[in-house]
Amino acid sequence: MITIALSKGRIFQETLPLLEAAGITPREDPEKSRKLIIATNRPDVRLVIIRASDVPTYVQYGAADIGVAGKDVLIEHGGEGMYQPLDLNIARCKMMVAAHPAFDYEQAVHQGARLRVATKYLKTAREYFAAKGVHVDLIKLYGSMELAPLVKLADVIVDLVSSGSTLKANGLVAVEDIMDISSRLVVNQASLKLKRAEIQPVLDSIASAIKTD
Ligand code: ATP
Ligand code: MG
Repeated sequence: MITIALSKGRIFQETLPLLEAAGITPREDPEKSRKLIIATNRPDVRLVIIRASDVPTYVQYGAADIGVAGKDVLIEHGGEGMYQPLDLNIARCKMMVAAHPAFDYEQAVHQGARLRVATKYLKTAREYFAAKGVHVDLIKLYGSMELAPLVKLADVIVDLVSSGSTLKANGLVAVEDIMDISSRLVVNQASLKLKRAEIQPVLDSIASAIKTD
């Protein structure tokens, strides 16, 4: 049995065509079903539907053989116990620093001010500002980061941005690019050794279906 860990939403939607290329079709739509384990047309392949940030944990411990997770989530997790053989080039966005336009980010950095940074990406933010030599107080949030500068919880946020419409709707502006983000296929290290004959053809089919541009 091969167990594949996916999160609902954009990752599931964008992974579907790649699974199809490997001859894997889910029996149910996780957006409509409450089931956490979804069978596929292949009796030897099942999907587990979990939070995006839990995918690396399931793969690390071998509860899932394969997973799809954003680079953002993989950095925070650390990636222990898994290979990251494929960039699927899906769920693309950017990790950015954003602020209220009334906050002069450039000047604050230039003056060596201590920045209050709200984010769910503590590790990414810590490493990024350390490399810039900027002192920060990190404030951990679990969502809706855009609110933090508006109510003066933080000077800036570190968050994912794709179209920029959520920032715009809340009157924030992006002030710096941190990195490009996309989702990666991850494979449990022991699974790849023990189940190579089953897993390698799935990886190969997915690899040849990846869209590059
Ligand atoms: P949860 O809802 O469990 O807290 P989440 O909000 O991170 O998790 P999603 O919003 O579905 O879950 O994001 C899943 C992944 O998709 C992220 O880890 C990231 O890699 C990517 N992603 C997030 N936001 C965007 C976006 N605006 N555009 C493209 N990809 C995104
Ligand atoms: Mg979300």
